[in-house]
Amino acid sequence: MWVRVTGAMKEAFFPTRCLVCGSFFRNSRQENRSLKTFLQILSNWEQGFFGLEGFFQKTDLTKEHVEECLGMDAKVFVALMSPFICANCSDTYMAVESPICSTCGVVFESREGEDHDCGECLNAPKRFRMARSAGVYDKVLMAAIHCLKYKEKIQLARPLGVLLFMAFCRYWNKGNINLIVPIPLHKRKFRSRGFNTSFLLVKEWAFILKALNGALPVIPVAGDILVRKRWTEPQTGLGRKERLQNIKNAFGVSDSSKVKGKKILLVDDVYTTGATANECAKVLLRAGAARVDVLTLARAM
Ligand SMILES: [Zn+2]
Ligand SMILES: [Zn+2]
Repeated sequence: MWVRVTGAMKEAFFPTRCLVCGSFFRNSRQENRSLKTFLQILSNWEQGFFGLEGFFQKTDLTKEHVEECLGMDAKVFVALMSPFICANCSDTYMAVESPICSTCGVVFESREGEDHDCGECLNAPKRFRMARSAGVYDKVLMAAIHCLKYKEKIQLARPLGVLLFMAFCRYWNKGNINLIVPIPLHKRKFRSRGFNTSFLLVKEWAFILKALNGALPVIPVAGDILVRKRWTEPQTGLGRKERLQNIKNAFGVSDSSKVKGKKILLVDDVYTTGATANECAKVLLRAGAARVDVLTLARAM
């Protein structure tokens, strides 16, 4: 009871400040920011995070399964972010929903019809097999990524990593991926920022996978295989052509024996034009990777 009383007092005297809008809000999960708690949020869910085990056993995900997951996703976002972001802000989250491009994952403006390849992917085939994202790069997700990357709100990495893992469950099945490669930062950038967002997002996946009791094998994360060979200007503010030019030959593989024959999942925070992901996929395939897929937290519209 004492714990409850002190908890209630804390809540009354120290309400949480929303990282996005700055307003104070009441938050019952103030103290609970452990990975276990975030997993519990998911396991308490109607569809159940651990109910997702079933997905891993399937060889083929039907559209219904994907949609079932997607329906859950927006509410899961609110629950996951509740220690840091108020419900008003969290409610603006938009999960990526079909119809999307089967290859690059771009969300089509028309909300009718099936997934199909977009004109751009037909014109200039991508090097990766497919790219998928959790949510649309807008409103709360955009704000949360900015908080994490530029305001060093590292505490957001954990719930966002769980969200990314949910997206992974939606689109990939058991055994489909055997190496996770976060897109690296240049050493200089890494030194000034102190962390690589992409790596932080997948850092705890091994624990999540273990919590699934072997439903999915633990997939190794290789943070040092893909390297930035040269400094590149930030892609922000550049057009499509400039982005391609800017990123060309910027990456290399440090040890090709580690990627040979591997089905790789490239991970990044935002997919904008896909120039970076495509360039990385090219380098990894050249080094002998069997296949490259891409997963990002957010997808620019
Ligand atoms: Zn807010
Ligand atoms: Zn496309």
